[in-house]
Amino acid sequence: MLDLLGGLLTLLAPSRCSGCGEATEGAEVFCAACSALIEHTPDPWAVFEYGGPVADAIQRFKYDGRSDLGASLGSLMADDAHPWAGKVDAVVPVPLHWRRRRSRGYDQAALLSKPVAKSLAVPLMLRGLRRVRNTPSQVDLPHRERQQNIAGAFAPWRLRGLPRVLLIDDVRTTGATLRAASEALRAGGVSEVYTFVLATRVLGQGA
Ligand SMILES: [Zn+2]
Repeated sequence: MLDLLGGLLTLLAPSRCSGCGEATEGAEVFCAACSALIEHTPDPWAVFEYGGPVADAIQRFKYDGRSDLGASLGSLMADDAHPWAGKVDAVVPVPLHWRRRRSRGYDQAALLSKPVAKSLAVPLMLRGLRRVRNTPSQVDLPHRERQQNIAGAFAPWRLRGLPRVLLIDDVRTTGATLRAASEALRAGGVSEVYTFVLATRVLGQGA
């Protein structure tokens, strides 16, 4: 029934490119023009290099209230998640602090994680980690300060003794956030932590 409804909605409103907003053929996430500009990263723990249409899509997703982009961008992560098939017991998103989630209305890493968990056929644990400090945004901070800013920001929550976790976030810059979240997972008894992000960014690139 939901599929049928989705199909009808697609007929009524053609899908739009996540990068430029132009109508696309079929259900492609990025149009042909944007796809040509997108750089995939050779790193196994990320899908794209941050920049161009990918940066535009992430901006819309995080700051323009476009929670709908979570499913399409997450599906691109799911397509690249095969290295972890059979190697993880759960997917855990890097959580926002509840204050930020409340002002944004959604938690972007949680939305990206959904298709990934589905494709790996493992549970999505939205309450695996808790953000215990509402840290200032990392975007404008230099490398050293990022680490100090984020240290101790996460705590293990309801991990239920899972040994292997795939930790998911939208963007990786210095890795300070993923490191702090990984430490909290280990403190909660997780023995193997793998990380996976939508895009990797070089420090100093726009938000
Ligand atoms: Zn486009």
